Amino acid sequence: LPEPAVEALQPADVRRLLPQPALHAHKYTRGVVGVRAGSSTYPGAALLAVAGANTGLAGMVRYVGSEAVASRVREAHPEVVGEGRVQAWVVGPGGGNDAAAMLDAARADGVPLVVDADALAHVDGTLPGCVLTPHAGELAGILGLAREEVEARPLAHVRGAADRFDCVVLLKGHRTLVAAPDGLVRATSTGTPWLATAGAGDVLAGLVGSLLAAGLPAFDAASLGAWVHGAAGTRASRGGPLTATTLAGSIPLLMRDLLARQ
Ligand code: AMP
Ligand code: MG
Repeated sequence: LPEPAVEALQPADVRRLLPQPALHAHKYTRGVVGVRAGSSTYPGAALLAVAGANTGLAGMVRYVGSEAVASRVREAHPEVVGEGRVQAWVVGPGGGNDAAAMLDAARADGVPLVVDADALAHVDGTLPGCVLTPHAGELAGILGLAREEVEARPLAHVRGAADRFDCVVLLKGHRTLVAAPDGLVRATSTGTPWLATAGAGDVLAGLVGSLLAAGLPAFDAASLGAWVHGAAGTRASRGGPLTATTLAGSIPLLMRDLLARQ
């Protein structure tokens, strides 16, 4: 395949893609995002994916998981509710051995998914309207390649995966590439190496899911989410270490600035 032009997402593009809530919006019209994540080994991934989902455009976040994890989610995020109808699912962060069942349950709903982390190993067939959010190692796993091969030709492999699974693929890294099934690619470089910290990816998955649930097309939800996540990380880091919790806390301020300057 010839290498396509990669569109580097600019702040003006991001502001244009970010919708304001309708004047008569209520929480259901703003969209409901569901999170299936976390396990007894990685309960924190559920909390961070929910934290990310809380920072997007959706009006409500639902969490579905074991009671042990769900009680911790409710404690940390009192606004989060339980099972019910959603417009998008976030599946996989910290899912461990439950990730396959999480993916099956989410797929059964027929709404767009963000598939991340442990759930990525269970992707098969095509997932139109969905977003996969692998890092290079996870994309290599899906494609049956060595990590080095993906790192050597990230553009070719992210496009190949988008074509093969008929969905948007967001390849995380220092530069994040977002490929659509039609071959279009957007790149974001808003982040910082300080984002290479546990849980940062879980926050991104939640954020992209919230944007999907709010009705953004998958390609826009993924590229906007990646841009905002990186910019929030850079701002919160201010050249020093940050945690995924700090990162999630910094996203609403960044969104506010983007919305205010529309
Ligand atoms: P994960 O690998 O799932 O924990 O996700 C890590 C997140 O941090 C992704 O959003 C990456 O794009 C971001 N990230 C990781 N390493 C870097 C880096 N060196 N520079 C910029 N962003 C990074
Ligand atoms: Mg991850």
